[in-house]
Amino acid sequence: MPDVLHTDPSDWKYVSEGGATIVYSYKGATHADFDGTVLRLRKAPVGMADTPSTSLEGEEDPDDPTIAFQTKCMERLIPPEHLPRLVNVHLNRTWLEKLVEMHDRERPELRRAKDAIDLNKHKGVLATDLVGGNRLAVEIKPKWAFLPSPVYLSQESKHSKTNICRFCMHSQMRAARGLQAATDYCPLDLFSGREERVLRAIRSLWQGWITSDGAANNLKIFASGKFIRPIDSQALLADGCEPVKNMDVIRDAFAAALVQPLLETPVLRILSRLQRNLDVLDIEGLSDLWRRTESAVASLREQSNSVPPPTPIGGSSPFFNLLEPRIPDWTTFLDNYISLEKQFDASNPTADSLRHYILAYLLSATFKDCSIIVRLKYLQPGTVPQQVGGPQSVAIIDLDPKSMSKLGQWEKLDREIVASYKPVEGKVCVDDWQPVM
Ligand SMILES: [Zn+2]
Repeated sequence: MPDVLHTDPSDWKYVSEGGATIVYSYKGATHADFDGTVLRLRKAPVGMADTPSTSLEGEEDPDDPTIAFQTKCMERLIPPEHLPRLVNVHLNRTWLEKLVEMHDRERPELRRAKDAIDLNKHKGVLATDLVGGNRLAVEIKPKWAFLPSPVYLSQESKHSKTNICRFCMHSQMRAARGLQAATDYCPLDLFSGREERVLRAIRSLWQGWITSDGAANNLKIFASGKFIRPIDSQALLADGCEPVKNMDVIRDAFAAALVQPLLETPVLRILSRLQRNLDVLDIEGLSDLWRRTESAVASLREQSNSVPPPTPIGGSSPFFNLLEPRIPDWTTFLDNYISLEKQFDASNPTADSLRHYILAYLLSATFKDCSIIVRLKYLQPGTVPQQVGGPQSVAIIDLDPKSMSKLGQWEKLDREIVASYKPVEGKVCVDDWQPVM
């Protein structure tokens, strides 16, 4: 385990933070363990972050669950060269206090008012720094890669769901409710593997980045580790480039640089295959399997006359006991899924079969919600883009396990999206997927 405590807190620079964690990148003297890495630390609400915990000093913290899920599960589905390296590191309170003292004022004020680094943690995560270095890093959240099979869809949803992808339907609903600007980004373009369509997807993402002033969820751009907004777009240009006033010129240089790695990397193909192969029933078919399993178990118990009403999918059922999956459950699932030794049949409603399809659906959701990071050289409009190269020029991040308790919300959201969708003349999302040998 690399020893972060041997580095000085001043060797680390604040990068960014999310709801649960905060990230620092290593800027100290050259060091084999830390060059090109970031340190991800857990946060806690203000007031709790610095209250000494009741656990004994030196008592072992559990390892971060993200690391176990990645090493025991994700690395079996995704070639490790496309994943950031994640390592557990030891921390102590004195070191963390010094880090806070040096860097806390660099955090946004609103965040500082809410939470802080959890000084009670004895462990953190050291990860590959995918956005730093003297280059651009483009973070894309691609979302759903496929159209569902019509087999398990209801009459009400079949037409829309087999013609319009889930992301485009959801975007329309979010725009109508004022939750986001209208976007014409369609993930099926990005996943198509065809240059013209991938370029169209990039231009749509760029447009969303401009209209949202960089806050769009599906595209983030970093230059040498710094988050870039449209107003800073000159920062995307290589040293020595004349300033470019026309944003379309920068957009075209950006699209030309990004399209090649996206066409060459196997990453989008892998995500598309996993998403569709793990979600064969659609949430509608999964929900139906849940209900059929409840009535099958009830009739086995010969209680069919006094059957309680069906429970919502993912909730606690009086008919079977399905617990939140833990790492051993995921690895057993993957043993079956990868070896194809044990087949499950959705027409046969048993608790085992239901459990299999639920875990599959949750894993599919992980791949629908992850992001990819593409590393590019600085842009030189009007020239042939140079590629960073190497398999790690495209990596997958944010592969977190999803909870069974989400299934009920997802089913409800699915119904709302279908009910609110208004057909747009000429609009069809084309799923170009062709299985390769
Ligand atoms: Zn679409």
